[in-house]
Amino acid sequence: MTYSELLKEQEWKEKCFDILSRDNHTCLCCGRIGYHNSYSYLQLDSLEKLYKILEPYSFYGHSFKEYFEGGLYKDNNEGLLEEECTSEQITKLRGKKIYALRTNAIRKLFYFHERKPLPLLVSDKDVEKIKAKIYGIKTHGHNSSGEDLVSLPCLLYELSDYCFDNIYMINAGDIYESYSILYVCYKNYAMAFSLTIHETNLSGLNVHHKYYIHGKKPWEYENDALITLCESCHQSFHQNNSVPIYRSVKYADPIGIASVCKRCGGSGYFPQYSHIQDGICFECGGEGISSDML
Ligand SMILES: [Zn+2]
Ligand SMILES: [Zn+2]
Ligand SMILES: [Zn+2]
Repeated sequence: MTYSELLKEQEWKEKCFDILSRDNHTCLCCGRIGYHNSYSYLQLDSLEKLYKILEPYSFYGHSFKEYFEGGLYKDNNEGLLEEECTSEQITKLRGKKIYALRTNAIRKLFYFHERKPLPLLVSDKDVEKIKAKIYGIKTHGHNSSGEDLVSLPCLLYELSDYCFDNIYMINAGDIYESYSILYVCYKNYAMAFSLTIHETNLSGLNVHHKYYIHGKKPWEYENDALITLCESCHQSFHQNNSVPIYRSVKYADPIGIASVCKRCGGSGYFPQYSHIQDGICFECGGEGISSDML
């Protein structure tokens, strides 16, 4: 198996999850929050981080913070729906059960006629059935230069139960080419945003190897050999630093230097291709370097 094939293995995905969780899905260089790939979820430690991510968007002319905390979503909503959601275990991660609520409203709103109901958000509680009041919300985005983006729908579910102990976000980035659906859950709220994700303050994240040992599989490194970097910090790291390759143990004389991936220039990520393989560079598998010597 080649090194880039190894990067597609489950072991590497799990190792990445460990590193991203340790680093709070935050680039250790610039502090941007982001995703490693689609359907990865991240846990936010404060609502302020969510507000920051949604900063480029207005909700009927309000910031998300005003809109949400002020309960304004209850005012200007005509198309109020009610739905019963059921939960289904989607994965089990190191003994922690993660549940997804299955709901039809998202599919109706986003016109996924042929798809099964999409999972809405994660919960760490097993919820048999839950009633939800659904508010349809119009967001209006603007980019960093103040230019308008199209209006995009989002849904806010007010659940009959308190489901979420933490603030979670899922990026379902492969669904649209230019829009992503972002799920957020918090206490008894579940929200689905359709956003032009690259206008949000979210970033593609990579797990970077500080050094390589010839013949080692990507996940066979100690955790302190790995750090989380966003695509642009990853790129500038590889442009400005070299990564040593050791024969068998660290700190012996390096047998070589890993060269920068010619395709992505070291970022490991192509945000404009986030609908294909989550935007991960097909040449280097997200490593940012050419793996020939590994
Ligand atoms: Zn960064
Ligand atoms: Zn790297
Ligand atoms: Zn690359």
